[in-house]
Amino acid sequence: MVLYFTGTGNSRYVAELIAEATGDKLVNISEYTRDGHPADFEEPGPYVFVSPVYVSAPAKPFMEFVKRSSFPRDAKAYFIMTSAASMGGSPEYCRRLSAKKGLLYQGAINVVMPQNYVLLAQAREDKQLRKRIEDARPVIERIAGAIKAGDKLPPDGMQSWEYAACVLVVDFYYKHFMTAKAFRVSEDCISCGKCASACPLGNIVMRDGRPLWGNDCTHCMACISLCPVQAVEFGRLTQGRRRYQGPKSVLKEE
Ligand code: SF4
Ligand code: SF4
Repeated sequence: MVLYFTGTGNSRYVAELIAEATGDKLVNISEYTRDGHPADFEEPGPYVFVSPVYVSAPAKPFMEFVKRSSFPRDAKAYFIMTSAASMGGSPEYCRRLSAKKGLLYQGAINVVMPQNYVLLAQAREDKQLRKRIEDARPVIERIAGAIKAGDKLPPDGMQSWEYAACVLVVDFYYKHFMTAKAFRVSEDCISCGKCASACPLGNIVMRDGRPLWGNDCTHCMACISLCPVQAVEFGRLTQGRRRYQGPKSVLKEE
């Protein structure tokens, strides 16, 4: 079973390719993260988890979903991270998560995908985005091959001090910066509701045809990136910055 958490679609893209190659069932965990209910999985596995890296760790809603769900004891667990650079402390987070849930940790690996964090920088040009997505494909195919063969993923080489440093940074960022307070909507809004339906945490409701943000935000960037008329801004930080609308949007423009 391939379970994925996604914002703008990078992790969905990777999960779909893995599921296609392995023939496994595909599950979007937003059906659980939107209202926080647990899941009770009984299939023998392997379980393939796909999550974006936020700051230097797997997305917190993804980790919380795994923590509150149940899995068969000793089922194999593979962790595939998507990020624009490195997966930071993710392997150690995943190792600990596996131990806590009685899963057999088979490794964690990073797939480099386009940068989507428009709060930090604008998206690159389509040609560069396309190249990055295409370069990821053989990596994803190798990962799927290892899963199919029942092999472990390559060692991550992470040191314990790296994990400790990541925990400090991740906790600090979540506490002080991971907020939806600065999201704004402009007069360009066409009331399509796409931002609300794209939020994997159900943090946006539509009131009088306009989005209203709540307090549960993980900065996945789906609302701001997928708006068809670029009506969402994060304060003044994102004004004039190009958005990344996900792999399918980039590839379909070929
Ligand atoms: S409010 Fe926007 S950025 Fe925050 S979790 Fe929802 S879609 Fe992602
Ligand atoms: S996606 Fe954009 S246009 Fe659609 S409701 Fe949200 S802000 Fe308005």
